[in-house]
Amino acid sequence: MPQTVKGVVAMAKGEPVTVTDIVIPDPGPGEAVVAIQACGVCHTDLHYREGGINDEFPFLLGHEAAGTVESVGEGVTDVAVGDYVILNWRAVCGQCRSCAKGKPQYCFATHNATQKMTLADGTELSPALGIGAFCEKTLVAAGQCTKVDEAAPPEVAGLLGCGVMAGIGAAMNTGNVGRGDTVAVFGCGGVGNAALEGARLAGARTIIAVDIDDQKLEWAKDFGATHTVNSSQVDAVEAIRELTDGNGVDVAIEAVGLPQTYEQAFYARDLAGTVVLVGVPNPEMKVELPFIEIFGRGGALKSSWYGDCLPSRDFPMLIDLYLQGRLNLGGFVSETIDLDAVEEAFHKMHNGEVLRSVVTL
Ligand SMILES: [Zn+2]
Ligand SMILES: [Zn+2]
Repeated sequence: MPQTVKGVVAMAKGEPVTVTDIVIPDPGPGEAVVAIQACGVCHTDLHYREGGINDEFPFLLGHEAAGTVESVGEGVTDVAVGDYVILNWRAVCGQCRSCAKGKPQYCFATHNATQKMTLADGTELSPALGIGAFCEKTLVAAGQCTKVDEAAPPEVAGLLGCGVMAGIGAAMNTGNVGRGDTVAVFGCGGVGNAALEGARLAGARTIIAVDIDDQKLEWAKDFGATHTVNSSQVDAVEAIRELTDGNGVDVAIEAVGLPQTYEQAFYARDLAGTVVLVGVPNPEMKVELPFIEIFGRGGALKSSWYGDCLPSRDFPMLIDLYLQGRLNLGGFVSETIDLDAVEEAFHKMHNGEVLRSVVTL
């Protein structure tokens, strides 16, 4: 029997979100229904609402979630009813050309539920990132459920489902930060601070946080920053060189998505260093760099999607590190809120007042 539950929907571009009835079908083959316990508010949810992702309104928002598997469809063997899971948007196919090359973290054909969740009148919903978890329950592909230790509270665990994983992975997976490395992170919101945490976990020696907001730089110190640079007051590139014996950093991580900060990251790295872009640009932006510098500096210019994570490998490991007190996930949770406070949380996020508001159910 399909169930009717409450969820947060963006009906039209730019309009405030509403809490409304959502119809959840029973799970079909390869699908699971998950009872959501917590879901973080991410910039991507706001981008959907603003029409910045695509025009497939109405959207069922929310995608940084943890919960319990309520039911599974035919043929599901990797998760079972009652499992405590983090939802992911990288349920790998195992068969595409990237999976076949042994690189499932770049899977080009990830799975989502095939059935649609709908409004009460039957209108099909587009779930954000194939998840839709500002909702009491949601329907996903079973591969989108990653089982983790239930000792981790849901408001903390769910954050690994998107932004925090993107940041940690930008440092650990894409940037391949290693013991003794020097690292700079541009932009100290949720993703940037997670990149600082990732650099710290990987054993970086010098970790420089760059932002234009002193409050955010203060927060950055709780996530592993050994130095902070306010780039509205000083030249960020020069400041980073000064902190690294005049050389620049081994890995420069751009977590803003602006050409100016990307250029700073480009020039702030040492010879043969790596630039990682994890901030999301808009389609109009262009970067102009001297071609000879791209060649002459060597190294690597990389992009990081979802922190190049493999959920089955990374989520349980990071939850274990959190439970051992080695990963500050709790610090990302600025507040817990109800379903009907998502619109207000968008404003707080937009104004930079919070790292993460987390809906608890
Ligand atoms: Zn694949
Ligand atoms: Zn997100």
